[in-house]
Amino acid sequence: MAYMISGNMDNGATEFQIEAAISKIFASEAAWNVTDECIQVMGGMGYMKDAGVERVMRDLRIFRIFEGTNDILRLFVALNGFQNAGNQLKSLQKAMKNPIGNAALLAGEITKRTKRKAGFSTGLTLQGSVHPELAHSGELAVKAIEQFGAVVEELLIKHGKKIIDEQFVLKRVADSAIDLYAMVVVLSRASRSLSQGGPTAQHEKMLCETWCVEAHDRVMTDIKSLRSSESRQLFKNMKAISAAVVETGGVVAPHPLGF
Ligand SMILES: Cc1cc2nc3c(=O)[nH]c(=O)nc-3n(C[C@H](O)[C@H](O)[C@H](O)COP(=O)(O)OP(=O)(O)OC[C@H]3O[C@@H](n4cnc5c(N)ncnc54)[C@H](O)[C@@H]3O)c2cc1C
Repeated sequence: MAYMISGNMDNGATEFQIEAAISKIFASEAAWNVTDECIQVMGGMGYMKDAGVERVMRDLRIFRIFEGTNDILRLFVALNGFQNAGNQLKSLQKAMKNPIGNAALLAGEITKRTKRKAGFSTGLTLQGSVHPELAHSGELAVKAIEQFGAVVEELLIKHGKKIIDEQFVLKRVADSAIDLYAMVVVLSRASRSLSQGGPTAQHEKMLCETWCVEAHDRVMTDIKSLRSSESRQLFKNMKAISAAVVETGGVVAPHPLGF
């Protein structure tokens, strides 16, 4: 991610704020999870000061807090994405006012939405960008991107500007955006290695394929949750549970032993 963003910046890109926020979230959480797993693998010894890993873990904990907490950065990623999607929808609305003058544009958009709804590809493809050996992973990324685009539009139409108050929704949108960006970055890296025929190319291919399958499944799960009425009820429950805890100043239910 860091190399992709730096490369884009070197090539003159000026819009990299969302990608930079995604990288900060992804890197700080990946480092935390890897260190936690390292301590687990080392067992009791990993927990002791002498092994040196607990220090790494303590030091890493702040990375999810400073330079913008990951919670706030997730809101930033999702809301900026919604703003871009909103601008696109606005141009479409504008085009609808003059349907004859914008017939080609509108026909293209209608076809795209109809195909997406029916589960067909809209024509978006990474063919030619990803190495042929990674074609399946590229297709998984495209499928996830198309479904993500559709759900973002649905949410925008449903909530409008009030999307800003839907933090449980925003969290899932940001998580999907992070997974999608990571898929694209991993595809890029592994494609480059395969094209150059480096000694680790086949290993990187395996990493890429594994990542893309898992990330695709996570994105689809998030999208399903964003569309389901059960999740909407769950979000309402979580809001009500938090409000009750705050109002009570602690656990709401009485202690089972009556203390
Ligand atoms: C060792 C250290 C070094 C630092 N160095 C610097 C520095 O060099 N420069 C600098 O500018 N700052 C520095 N800071 C400050 C750091 O940037 C802040 O601690 C950080 O931005 C979080 O702000 P806060 O502590 O006020 O937490 P708060 O803003 O009080 O947040 C508390 C918790 O609530 C969450 N939260 C808050 N609002 C929302 C919301 N709307 N939705 C969801 N969750 C929310 C946050 O994510 C966080 O988990 C440093 C802090 C530490 C501990």
